[in-house]
Amino acid sequence: MSGQAIRVGIGYDVHAFAAPEAQRPLMIGGVTIPHERGLVGHSDADALLHALVDALLGAAALGDIGTHFPSNDPRWRDAASIAFLTYTLDLLTEQGWRIGNVDATIVAERPRMTPHIPAIRARLAEALGLPLEAVSVKAKTTDGLGFTGRSEGIACYAIALIERDA
Ligand SMILES: [Zn+2]
Repeated sequence: MSGQAIRVGIGYDVHAFAAPEAQRPLMIGGVTIPHERGLVGHSDADALLHALVDALLGAAALGDIGTHFPSNDPRWRDAASIAFLTYTLDLLTEQGWRIGNVDATIVAERPRMTPHIPAIRARLAEALGLPLEAVSVKAKTTDGLGFTGRSEGIACYAIALIERDA
């Protein structure tokens, strides 16, 4: 009996904005977004990549980003999170998984993320070796409500579908 195993995974991540004096770049989806404040984190605090990594790890039931890239590990200080995504892709590939598609939502009042969506999709598609049509990224605001509405931070949701021969 042969067939296809199909799994889905979900990811969520939040990072708070740093003070402008910290002069941190704002990284979302592996793209530098022009903004006066970046996000606080041990790595580059790329909430979209972190949510996506968790979605992929979750789909394969391989734990979460914290187990693979502990924040107390000096190797990951100010690390470019695209490296986490590449590592995760390699891990899945080793186990025979292929990514079907990914979808994500960025929740941010400021900066407006919509103009940056094409660059983010292209960056993720390149990193994952997927066609653009298999990589969806959407931007939302919360009508001023909550911590994202007050521009205290950015939240990201992601979902991934993976498949392999059973
Ligand atoms: Zn994170």
